[in-house]
Amino acid sequence: MLPMKLSAILVALLVVSPTWAQDSAAIRAAVQREKQPLLDTLKELVSIESGSSDFDGVTLIGNRIAEQLRALGGEVEKVPPVSGYLRFQNTPERLADTVVARFRGKGTKRILLLAHMDTVYAKGMLAKQPFRVEGDRAYGLGIGDDKHGVATIQHVLATLRNLRFDQYGLITVLVSPDEEIGSNAERDLITSLSTNQDLILSYEGSRVPGDDIRLATTGVELVVLTVKGRASHAGAAPEQGRNALYELSHQLLQMQDLSSPSRGLKLNWTVASAGSVSNSIPEDARAMGDMRADDAADFAGLEASIREKIRDHLIPETTVDVRFERFYPPMSLRQQSLPIAQFAQRIYSEYGGKLNVATKSPGAGTDAAFAALKSGAPILEGMGLRMYGAHSNEDEYVVISSIEPRLYLSARLIIDFSLGRTASE
Ligand SMILES: [Zn+2]
Repeated sequence: MLPMKLSAILVALLVVSPTWAQDSAAIRAAVQREKQPLLDTLKELVSIESGSSDFDGVTLIGNRIAEQLRALGGEVEKVPPVSGYLRFQNTPERLADTVVARFRGKGTKRILLLAHMDTVYAKGMLAKQPFRVEGDRAYGLGIGDDKHGVATIQHVLATLRNLRFDQYGLITVLVSPDEEIGSNAERDLITSLSTNQDLILSYEGSRVPGDDIRLATTGVELVVLTVKGRASHAGAAPEQGRNALYELSHQLLQMQDLSSPSRGLKLNWTVASAGSVSNSIPEDARAMGDMRADDAADFAGLEASIREKIRDHLIPETTVDVRFERFYPPMSLRQQSLPIAQFAQRIYSEYGGKLNVATKSPGAGTDAAFAALKSGAPILEGMGLRMYGAHSNEDEYVVISSIEPRLYLSARLIIDFSLGRTASE
């Protein structure tokens, strides 16, 4: 018995030895072994269609991801949407469960890894963009947003397991079912799970030609304007009508310059409709605008301006209502994210990569912002692969040669952070 125990202790000593942080060769070899398995996982995930509103599709992929995380040693839970969750106009009847997996280690650090499994695509589009590899690109519907994120997390965990590294305290993985339509099912869960984390990594991708991680994300809101007028025959009695289309036009024109691009505050009216037949004064009109902000206070100010502006009418006896759908709050730069981002740059350069750290948001909102609301942890967004073509009809792809450096980045970061070495080096 004794020799067995001794050898076990020796192995344990080797595993926890501080040389881990320097032992980049072992980590490098481990991530190289994960390259093809990650591509295999991507092929499988891409082959399951999971548009945000497709309850069955998102449930199916969620079940598969849950199995995969369980096979990696995680305690997996499928968390139903919170009761009475926020409903937007595009929120489907049913939202699928969130997948949460916990990996318990022997250390103290708590690390949260985020990704999402839904896509912006309608069912049936997969046939035109099936998984395929061409040169350095792996193509597939939703592969760039965000199936590579789910796959990357799985193979970072596989890398740690193969290295027998377990000196983290708790790694929690959260995979969202409805990130593309506002994360209403799990936004509160992300916020509450984030409160006691030490490090949060979010696995959206890095859009080519860039190779970056991001320390800030943009706030996204939708403004919906609804005008009610009065219908009347356009030929026989137009004067008895109250033209909702004219009123809507007045509203849009008087709200065309509420943006402040230098602050990252933007309001752009993007969708409008009015009337239904050409020979009637339109009774109803409606418009939607896309709002972006880098600072939460800017949203509040913009909402107040819009509420004030709609009191000014062109057409008497029309009513104008406004509603805001708050998709993502902004995540402003957090000072505590800077040192860990600089450490990430050093790690990445060991793999020959040059990692750009974006301290200003390039314009998109993500789940990282819900994590940031009540957490003091450093948060890095864009930890997934390099990719192209998200939300487009163009071929969406990930860059295959980014798999190894990106896996290395995450694995090293988790190992070194767990060992308390990210601050001192
Ligand atoms: Zn995404």
